[in-house]
Amino acid sequence: MKIKRLEKVYEGKAKILYATEDPALMIQYFKDDASAFDGVKKGTIVDKGVINNEVSNRIYKHLEEKGIKTHFVEQLSDRETLVKRLDIIPIEVVLRNVAAGSLCKRLGIEEGKIFDPPILEFFYKNDDLHDPLINDCHALIFKWATQAELDVLREYGYRINSLMITFFKERNIRLVDFKLEFGRYKGEILLGDEISPDGCRLWHSETGEKMDKDRFRFSMGSVEEKYREVYNLVCSDKN
Ligand code: UDP
Repeated sequence: MKIKRLEKVYEGKAKILYATEDPALMIQYFKDDASAFDGVKKGTIVDKGVINNEVSNRIYKHLEEKGIKTHFVEQLSDRETLVKRLDIIPIEVVLRNVAAGSLCKRLGIEEGKIFDPPILEFFYKNDDLHDPLINDCHALIFKWATQAELDVLREYGYRINSLMITFFKERNIRLVDFKLEFGRYKGEILLGDEISPDGCRLWHSETGEKMDKDRFRFSMGSVEEKYREVYNLVCSDKN
């Protein structure tokens, strides 16, 4: 089936969404553009779009096999994937297994501290406000989600985290933290967006080397090389 790409519906920092002839479906196009610190730092990571598309689809297929409902329909090309059109819930769900990033700054915790059980946080998805940390009360009062939806986000967040820890561990990667986005679709909550080195912290299990967007954020070098390494570790098997 040849899916026709129609008008651009939304352009974000790393992806573009296009309409299709089916109003329930969209095409998610992955760019090489990279940004950090709320768009203050901008750049390009060569072939990031191809890598993130492949990595994310590999992961979403795995999650679907494990009973997690996602927006994934089918990969159309190296940078394009057909997805279900979600009504995105404006809450970013972050799971943390190891201390890093904003949590270290906010709470004065040293990077590398292990969290068992993991920490789950909600952030309000709003660039102008720099995605502030929120709790259930904010989400309910401001009607970003219902209590039933928050319960699903939490349950899915923890389940996806434990599935992803195992998935990455089997590929020699330590899942430090990552961000998830969900949306409403025909009465259900589905996992949307992407899971890739852009929105995860991934450290090599043996060397501890960072293989994610922190390399771009902090100008650590070998950005493309490490994204490619994640791709090789995640996508080389056919399981
Ligand atoms: N993250 C993301 N998009 C955001 C904020 C965070 O993908 O807008 C990811 C980030 O890559 C990391 C995790 O969520 O894997 C936790 O991010 P953190 O809160 O530590 O923020 P950061 O240090 O990235 O500002």
